[in-house]
Amino acid sequence: MLFKNIWTRMITLAAAGIVSIGLATAGAEDKKTKENAGAEAKKASTAPERVIKTDAEWRAILTPEQYRITRQQGTEAAFTGRYWKFKGEGTYVCVACGYELFDSQTKYKSGTGWPSFWEPIVESHVGEVTDRGSGMIRTEVICNRCDSHLGHVFEDGPRPTGLRYCINSEALNFIPAEKEKTEAAEKTKKK
Ligand SMILES: [Zn+2]
Repeated sequence: MLFKNIWTRMITLAAAGIVSIGLATAGAEDKKTKENAGAEAKKASTAPERVIKTDAEWRAILTPEQYRITRQQGTEAAFTGRYWKFKGEGTYVCVACGYELFDSQTKYKSGTGWPSFWEPIVESHVGEVTDRGSGMIRTEVICNRCDSHLGHVFEDGPRPTGLRYCINSEALNFIPAEKEKTEAAEKTKKK
């Protein structure tokens, strides 16, 4: 009786052992897959580090108007935005993720009622998408880091590019050059 019990116990233990080995292997494989996925994601994002948020997260950080324009391809009414006739010197960044998009030196008076630029600050920072909405074929421009809708680009701009980036003020935040300089100087001082 005792003998039989020992065997039963040994079999039970062995079985448990196999199960736990099985579980450990499954765990290791799962971890490996995740590591590979991470490495591949890193490889793919050598350009800008993507900013990806859920719809609810965007709603939480953007005003309703910013949300309507950047996440739902909206357009602000002409001559109403805060930057269409603004002339400060500095950098325009994405209102949603802070990515640098346009330099004030490429801003010009287009007469359209929207902030207009003839060139992005860095070409790869602004993406282009074919927009077939509103019964027209236009080229939509987006922030290449968070995919926010910014506006459209047209080929009736001034020299040297001949392009007109027609951007919603609501999609932008302006960082004055003075502030950038001060911050840079403070950083140097701290070092
Ligand atoms: Zn962005």
